[in-house]
Amino acid sequence: MSNSILSKPYFHNEEAAYEFVEARIWPRGAVCPHCGGTERNKKMGGASTRIGTYKCYDCRKPFTVKIGTIFEASHIPMRLWLQAIFLIAASKKGISSNQLHRALGITLKSAWFMSHRIREAMKSNDVSFFGSDGGDVEVDETFIGHDPKIKPRNSRKGRGYAHKNKVLALVERNTGKARSIVVDDLKVSTLLPILQANISPNARILTDEASHYYQMREHFRAHGTVEHGAKEYVNRDNPTIHTNTIEGFFSVFKRGMKGVYQHCGHQHLNRYLHEFDFRYSNRQALNVDDAERAERILRGVIGKRLTYQTAV
Ligand SMILES: [Zn+2]
Repeated sequence: MSNSILSKPYFHNEEAAYEFVEARIWPRGAVCPHCGGTERNKKMGGASTRIGTYKCYDCRKPFTVKIGTIFEASHIPMRLWLQAIFLIAASKKGISSNQLHRALGITLKSAWFMSHRIREAMKSNDVSFFGSDGGDVEVDETFIGHDPKIKPRNSRKGRGYAHKNKVLALVERNTGKARSIVVDDLKVSTLLPILQANISPNARILTDEASHYYQMREHFRAHGTVEHGAKEYVNRDNPTIHTNTIEGFFSVFKRGMKGVYQHCGHQHLNRYLHEFDFRYSNRQALNVDDAERAERILRGVIGKRLTYQTAV
């Protein structure tokens, strides 16, 4: 027998795939999504029954583990969902719908829907403040692709970035977690409410010399800066002051967006950010391996269906 993770039965056998998902979504046994019943649920068998079907003898309705998750209303076999989740979890720069379509033998359209649903599962529910222990939070922004709503002011190619999509990102040093957000512009009036909603006033923020950060510094315990314009990447007086962690995050994000997701429209950018935030916050350096990362995606599938449908 091979030790390859890809030889696991839940990637190939539909019943094993359902059992794998059920064990994670229902750790204490099946829960009826219609009435919440936990006591009188019976797994249905027989050739005419769909795999994974249960019947609740409290409300007498059938159900499967897919209800209320990203899998609901999907006809794609569960074992392919698990393959797709594993591939997305294990690819540092992401995996394109085209690649997923070829690897899984499904249509491009199915691959596209699956990957966007999986990105929803990767969306963090964590709304805690970064740096609430008084720790360091690196803050920086980057530009990616074009926002079609804004016309480039300067006709010379590559000049100016008003027409580009703008991404603000934060990395909490102590935990290694990243959180990034698409922003309309880099005005203090736009950025400050976002920073205050995500960073504790007890935190020390670490940024480059961009003037908007100086205008926001009084809202945080401390503010350290590096002068990127003067090629200073670590503060000369204090080596803990730098933004190299967040530069590393942006570098993976940009390589993924350019190399894998070549045509990302403005409306989907937030979804891709969920994906890169998730993988970065659950990375190997934080002792999360590929299998554990896939498990964590699976725990995120619950309650994401509606978010997805209303967002499209
Ligand atoms: Zn019920």
